[in-house]
Amino acid sequence: MPIVEVAISVPLAKTFDYKSDCEIAVGARVKVSFGTKKVIGIVLANKEKSEFTRLKSVIEILDEAAILDKPILNFLFWAAKYYHHPIGEVLLAAMPKNLRLGKEAKIKKVTGLPTKTIEPDFEISTEQDTAIKAILANQSAYHGFLLHGVTGSGKTEVYLRITQAILDQGKQVLVLVPEIGLTPQMISRFESRLKTRVVAIHSQLNETQKLDAYLMAKNGDAGVVLGTRSAIFAPMPNLGMIIVDEEHDGSFKQQSSFRYSARDLSFIRAKQANIPLILGTATPSLETLKNSMDNKLTRLTLANRAGNVVMPKVSLIDMRSNFDGALSKLLIEKMQRQLANNKQVMLFINRRGYAPVYFCTECSWKSECNHCNAAMVYHRHINRLKCHHCGDEKMPEQTCPDCGEQSLEVYGYGTERLEETLSSHFPDTPIIRIDRDTTRRKKALAQHLDKINSGEPCIIVGTQMLAKGHDFSNLAMVGILDIDGGFLSTNFRATEYLAQLLIQVSGRAGRSGEQGEVVIQTRYPDHPMFNYVLSNRYTQFASGLLKQRMSAMMPPFAYQALLCANAKNKKNSEDFLREVAGLLKSVEMDNVEIWGPTPNSIEKKADYYYFNLYLQSNDRAALHQMLATFSQHVDGIKLKNKVRWYLDVDPIE
Ligand code: ADP
Ligand code: ZN
Ligand code: ZN
Repeated sequence: MPIVEVAISVPLAKTFDYKSDCEIAVGARVKVSFGTKKVIGIVLANKEKSEFTRLKSVIEILDEAAILDKPILNFLFWAAKYYHHPIGEVLLAAMPKNLRLGKEAKIKKVTGLPTKTIEPDFEISTEQDTAIKAILANQSAYHGFLLHGVTGSGKTEVYLRITQAILDQGKQVLVLVPEIGLTPQMISRFESRLKTRVVAIHSQLNETQKLDAYLMAKNGDAGVVLGTRSAIFAPMPNLGMIIVDEEHDGSFKQQSSFRYSARDLSFIRAKQANIPLILGTATPSLETLKNSMDNKLTRLTLANRAGNVVMPKVSLIDMRSNFDGALSKLLIEKMQRQLANNKQVMLFINRRGYAPVYFCTECSWKSECNHCNAAMVYHRHINRLKCHHCGDEKMPEQTCPDCGEQSLEVYGYGTERLEETLSSHFPDTPIIRIDRDTTRRKKALAQHLDKINSGEPCIIVGTQMLAKGHDFSNLAMVGILDIDGGFLSTNFRATEYLAQLLIQVSGRAGRSGEQGEVVIQTRYPDHPMFNYVLSNRYTQFASGLLKQRMSAMMPPFAYQALLCANAKNKKNSEDFLREVAGLLKSVEMDNVEIWGPTPNSIEKKADYYYFNLYLQSNDRAALHQMLATFSQHVDGIKLKNKVRWYLDVDPIE
């Protein structure tokens, strides 16, 4: 009787053998019993013998042919090994939920082919043309490109043309975009231009739609797969090119369970498939800049905005002498001028809710979450204090629990309060607020965006969600509020992220017609970063940061891994990492540094205490050898201390 080796989604780095009546396709799903449960597994091999006795039988074969084909399996094996993550969890995490649950792999609704496509009404620029030709000259083998184009330089136009060229050869193209960059506008730009089926894979779809898209990618019917990070795992039998748009964006990194970077994995997938890879952005990450300096990526530059549009004029407003609240007088005057001209204005503030602090003016007590080391955020429309870390809610206290006075007030601004303040300054202007609270309902975001795209003069208030990708043609001015937290952050990447954010947000202004205007309010107007942001010299700024990282031997000049432990008992959490550190230090490896354990910047989250242990080396192989040692020995330690832990390879937070 044949035996099959099966991967199951359990936190163990091993596979399991089962008896079967017949051979089963490698990559197919089976139902098997595991402990007292019935679970879905993936067949990895058929074999004659097993080192185990008393094997159970496969309960049901769910697929005749492979769901995960050979190239995807190889890719996922690579990822599991690199991220030191259990193979079963990796394989099952790479599939849409309905397949994971054992549902039938059948397409419900086929996406139609476009009946007609629209051609653009402009000529491409010389810069665009040069980039397209350089990429297409290297399409028959692996080659990495950095498409570094300023905001509004027409990168998407470059993607569209090379995608069509690849499609014309009967191949498929995978396009990865950031979580919040996958707007209906982006999807329709691809759909209306390309003579192929375009399927989207993102979180706004329901499970049936996600499965359909996955299966159309897998059977080759979809010419283009346009998706957020998990789309990197979509099987595509004729894959001819991978594009990663806004490669610097943090959302390509998964921050729970299987912590992969879709941007980093795109290199491996392109190499394994032997196809070109394009990383596009206006603000390359330092990792990508270094890759282009090391000639691992060929850099193509679009230095000018498309269609004779100029870059916006950026200026600072010094908030040290401002006592009028969130909006300076000067900013309000500038807004009035733009609105009087029938233009749109956008204000960016990266905090939702009404106010981030609820405190006592007498004794400076402030309302904190009972379960986290974090302040509660006041939300006015529900009159509740909410914790943005664990989701806990409570009624605002009426009197101060410390001094008993009725002297509690809010402090600071979130989108909700900004909207309220704006409506008193601009009673006759429509205000459109876009944040997680106003877009929770499906289609709400699309409705807001439609309103903005109608072009009517309005004020748009928004968070991160508005920072990138959008192309609003009547938006003349962007005001950036309250970014100073970025200067105080403990993350060594904070200024890199802040510069990228400022340039991306600024890039929304003045994308057609007259020059746009960007105003940044800050209490640190003398910070050297602004010199570069104001004069649009991101590359020089980033090169300076790279030099600092090199002399400090920090990423991307060194490789890091984070071991994070958490437990309800603080001591257990810390002790676990102490023991791990002891174990790792006993391994003779001079070129791996071990730091910690140290408490996380937010030590308590949802009643669990978080501690970190950092490993760093300039020798990637040495680091990974040490991680392998850890993986071999960790189970013994964990059982003793009742601790949850995770490993984050190449952490970014
Ligand atoms: P990016 O992705 O680099 O931010 P987009 O591709 O969104 O820029 O282009 C910005 C705008 O310029 C779009 O409206 C696009 O249609 C237009 N555009 C692109 N290329 C050209 C060109 N060569 N001439 C005129 N307009 C162009
Ligand atoms: Zn008090
Ligand atoms: Zn909390």
